[in-house]
Amino acid sequence: MVSHVKPDGDTLGAGLALGIALKRIGKRVHYFQQDPVPRNLRFLPDALCVSRDVPADLPGDTLWVFCDMSDYSRAGEFLPKMQRENMLDIDHHLGNSHFGAFNFVIPTECSTGTAVMRLFREMRVEIDRDLATCLLTTIMTDTGGFMHSNTTPGVLELSAELMRAGADKEQITEEIFANKRIAATRLLGRVIDEMRFAHDGRYCYSHVDDAMLAQTGADGEDTEDVVNVLRGQEGVEVAALFKAFDGEIRVSLRSNGRVNLQAAAARLGGGGHFRAAGRTLYGPRDEAFAAGDGALSAEGL
Ligand code: 5GP
Ligand code: MN
Repeated sequence: MVSHVKPDGDTLGAGLALGIALKRIGKRVHYFQQDPVPRNLRFLPDALCVSRDVPADLPGDTLWVFCDMSDYSRAGEFLPKMQRENMLDIDHHLGNSHFGAFNFVIPTECSTGTAVMRLFREMRVEIDRDLATCLLTTIMTDTGGFMHSNTTPGVLELSAELMRAGADKEQITEEIFANKRIAATRLLGRVIDEMRFAHDGRYCYSHVDDAMLAQTGADGEDTEDVVNVLRGQEGVEVAALFKAFDGEIRVSLRSNGRVNLQAAAARLGGGGHFRAAGRTLYGPRDEAFAAGDGALSAEGL
């Protein structure tokens, strides 16, 4: 099971659910993830089995299952090279490149986890508490706790099914949406201080850098939700957070649904969804600001 760099609850929850189910039918399973499991996802079953090390004795017919990535490069440069025929791509991103020999890509799914649920139906997997916890985590992550527009009646029905199967919604809420570290809140304050508006107030952007992390004691994981605060300001249609650390600038984009961010991110070489997308840029911050503005303007901001 392969999850993407800077993992979230969807890529990891989907991979863990599939891995746990496959182990039950006697398959040998390993979890590859280049980055460590974020603090707020360590409660997931099997999370402690995830590693960037790949066993040396994998057979030639090993199936590499990529969850929640529009291209395999999102798995990171530590992923060993492999043949396309060994790749299964399970995803819900717009513009998925169908990089696998097998591609189970359903852009109408709210999360990769709900695509995995479809597989489970076909495989007649019984959803127990562990699987339900992983799967509800994928849904709650990608719907922003049932707030985003991908929260359809069907998604709520699936979620009810998972709660009945034993998923602890309270724990998932606490781990993913509450439990903020004080350092994260101090960092949020700094980002708000730096907030700027453009396009008649329809665009809000800000930035984070290594110095701000050092001043507040926060780290990269503490920045994951910050862009949503910018998006939530009155009149804002698009928000961008430019995260300049470790020698690169990760741009996180969020929209209220008017501007297509998957298209805007694609102009920068990145990707994502209509309302949430991103790209890693290199170079000075002001150039990244200008590139972001250019791509968003071209998409009608
Ligand atoms: P986030 O802002 O949470 O890091 O990312 C939002 C969305 O954009 C996610 O669906 C993520 O997969 C996608 N995304 C972020 N950065 C990149 C990138 O560099 N390339 C591609 N293809 N997608 C990205
Ligand atoms: Mn996802």
